[in-house]
Amino acid sequence: MYEILILGAGYTGMAATMGLAGRLKGRDDVHVTLVNPQTRFTERLRLHQTASGQTLTDFQIPQLLAGTGVDFVQSWVTGLDADARTVRIDDATTLRYDTLIYALGSVADTAVVPGVDEFAYTLNSAQDAALLAEHLDRLSDGTVVVAGGGLTGIESAAEIAEQHPELDVVLLSRQEPGSMMGDKARARLHAGLDRLGVAIRAGVDIVKVMFDGVALDNGEVVAAQAVLWTTGVRVSPLAAAAGLQVDERGRIVTDKSLRSVSHPDVYAVGDAAAIHQGYGVMHGTCQSGIPTALHAAASVVRELKGKQPKAFRFGYVHQPVSLGRNDAVIQFTNADDTPGRFYLAGRFAVAYKETVSSSPWTTYRLIKALPAVGAATWRRGGRLTS
Ligand SMILES: Cc1cc2nc3c(=O)[nH]c(=O)nc-3n(C[C@H](O)[C@H](O)[C@H](O)COP(=O)(O)OP(=O)(O)OC[C@H]3O[C@@H](n4cnc5c(N)ncnc54)[C@H](O)[C@@H]3O)c2cc1C
Repeated sequence: MYEILILGAGYTGMAATMGLAGRLKGRDDVHVTLVNPQTRFTERLRLHQTASGQTLTDFQIPQLLAGTGVDFVQSWVTGLDADARTVRIDDATTLRYDTLIYALGSVADTAVVPGVDEFAYTLNSAQDAALLAEHLDRLSDGTVVVAGGGLTGIESAAEIAEQHPELDVVLLSRQEPGSMMGDKARARLHAGLDRLGVAIRAGVDIVKVMFDGVALDNGEVVAAQAVLWTTGVRVSPLAAAAGLQVDERGRIVTDKSLRSVSHPDVYAVGDAAAIHQGYGVMHGTCQSGIPTALHAAASVVRELKGKQPKAFRFGYVHQPVSLGRNDAVIQFTNADDTPGRFYLAGRFAVAYKETVSSSPWTTYRLIKALPAVGAATWRRGGRLTS
């Protein structure tokens, strides 16, 4: 039996799994296994909603897999032996593979500043987001510091400010929030944050997180009752430890068809992969991750048929940013993610963003019912985005 093993059932692991399930219908010589620590699908795009106290739909992975023939293993991956082609999981079992799809994503990098691991909250998992929600619920007043002015920090600050008007929300950032957007969209973003009462302090470096606030590089201390850390991400050390070629951030370096350059029986997708395009190395987004996963699924099936996988090409479309439940800004982009001429704001942007955030699970269901949807998605070079 030919074994395909998929590690991680986030946005990209699920897309790869459903892409394979659709294309392998009727092939009883190929077996697919998906490994993930939780049975519940983590809607990472919405973890700021969880953190601010909102309840999300409970999407169960085994339910979606029903009828596909894919085996689901609820476990943590603890080791990878790339030469023996085995993966160790946390009950010390080993799983064999002929082809591996590595989709372990990324988490907030908490090792950059002392005190983050001990005192800051993260959005690394639904449980972590729920811990922050419980803490915020207990506060009747005080300050929440959101560290990091990237899209995750902006969305989190806005969501918390909207759901908890009794709290002061301060967004601390090295760069100006929205710096990747065009001038008009950025100005609109700042107006939206201002309306929600989010105080922005850009050009500051946090050097320490403490139980009662953060210390800045200028010696100032910003007192806070909660600190949320969103300044950047890191990937699992498993690939590097297994001897796969990785970049300086530990992401698996891929060839044009998304196979590891050192171990071609491993496909790497999503945040865990370093994928070169004409404009440089792609940065991790769901928007780009799902197309990588659908492409990998298609390539694995091509290889099973004795064909060569095709090269992956992707161009970014948008930077969609929610500002609470009633406002959003969508910056449309050039293929290299630099800002284009147009942006959308207000209620049309809210509807757009909501469609984007809901699209992955809808896409998985569609691919399950109509495998051609998965094929169309990747052939169009990632136009179906998140
Ligand atoms: C609040 C927030 C908002 C965002 N908004 C957007 C947005 O609007 N648009 C956009 O394009 N991107 C957005 N992103 C980024 C996007 O969520 C990621 O780029 C995307 O989730 C990457 O998908 P992935 O499948 O590579 O990783 P993930 O979705 O993180 O999935 C990784 C999976 O692997 C599992 N895993 C990890 N380690 C192990 C292990 N050792 N063993 C077994 N399983 C393991 C995890 O539990 C998880 O299920 C946002 C991120 C955050 C945090």
